[in-house]
Amino acid sequence: MANKFLSLGVRRSDLKEYIKDSAKQSSFKYKAEKNATHVIYFPYVTKQDAATGAVVKELKAMSAMVHSWTTADNKFKSTLCTKNHALTGDDGEIITDGTCPFCDRVADAWEIYNKRYETEKVSCGLTGDALEKHMNAFKQQIGNERKVNTPTPYLYVYAIQFNTDTQGNPVLDADGMPTYEQKIIRLSSTKVEAINKQLENNGFEMPGSEIKFSYTDTDNPMLLAKNCTYTVVIPTLGKMITERYPNVVAKINADLAKFEWDGIEKAYPEWEVMPTKTAKVTVDQMFVLWDKYKADLLTNPDAQYCEYTTASNAKAVTNPALAGANIGAMPQMGALPQMGMMPQDAQAQAPVQNPAPVQAQAMPQMGMPILDANGAPTQAQAMPQMGAMPQMGAMPQMGMPILDGNGVADI
Ligand SMILES: [Zn+2]
Repeated sequence: MANKFLSLGVRRSDLKEYIKDSAKQSSFKYKAEKNATHVIYFPYVTKQDAATGAVVKELKAMSAMVHSWTTADNKFKSTLCTKNHALTGDDGEIITDGTCPFCDRVADAWEIYNKRYETEKVSCGLTGDALEKHMNAFKQQIGNERKVNTPTPYLYVYAIQFNTDTQGNPVLDADGMPTYEQKIIRLSSTKVEAINKQLENNGFEMPGSEIKFSYTDTDNPMLLAKNCTYTVVIPTLGKMITERYPNVVAKINADLAKFEWDGIEKAYPEWEVMPTKTAKVTVDQMFVLWDKYKADLLTNPDAQYCEYTTASNAKAVTNPALAGANIGAMPQMGALPQMGMMPQDAQAQAPVQNPAPVQAQAMPQMGMPILDANGAPTQAQAMPQMGAMPQMGAMPQMGMPILDGNGVADI
């Protein structure tokens, strides 16, 4: 019998075409680059505003709420939040039902966080300043290890990255036209804010602008992303590549018109369709020991949650008094709810010694315009049952760059 799998293969006679196909979508992923300066141009289409008649410039961009997590074997994963988004397939099957299994587990993730915190506090054997210092560092650790977090808003924007030489001059093709790569740049809201500030300070807007993204000399992808600086290339001074080579704009606009979002998951895996059923299985696997512990508690008040038990805290974990006092109590945590949105609160949650950009970037976002109209309300609604803690501790995550499988951070 013929091998049935042969029907799954695509017959290829042209190797060039194959290479082009396979590289096409993943090449859209924009990557930060050590010691480099990228000249990024944001193409746009013009639309007439129906109400005012004014002509407005529109970017090609999408925003989305993203859940990210790390698997037990330390692989970074991410997916879009499906809360309030019901999707049906072409043949009528339910893909997502409007719930979000990740949002549904945020409260559990916080309970685990609180439990770990309490356990460590009574078992580490430290007191006074040493205890405080240790617990601040520990909070950072368990915050990073939290199984599920509230979703983070990201903007995905279509942009042009000009190929430049070491002097920043465009690399020209045989016809003297600047060469470029089409990119989808994923920006945290903090970064959008930073870029927008640069633009507004100069009286510009993102569509039609050229901005230099400059990176420092570091191999740490988090720092690379965090320390990126943005410089607007001022128009009318003859410095913009699109001014010096106006013909390139028509070429770019032709590419822009052909661009499709379909296939974005090759560049950004969070766009890979994850049905509600799959998401549920995924999170349930992450919480299997927690669920067992909660079930055991119903019949055994001394039940223990041992997923994170170590030699140093085993004593505390096996202490029935502590087990009985566990999660629900958390007086000092519970006292903080109303402070949830305050900067100093978030800093207290997230010690500054973390070299990652997370905390430094976390706060500014909170007060800025929401990119995704569903953003803040969705998050707020997502966790009514969680009461105080979540939104407070959730903050360090807000600006956290997404690292892909290669440890490449978004910017
Ligand atoms: Zn969600």
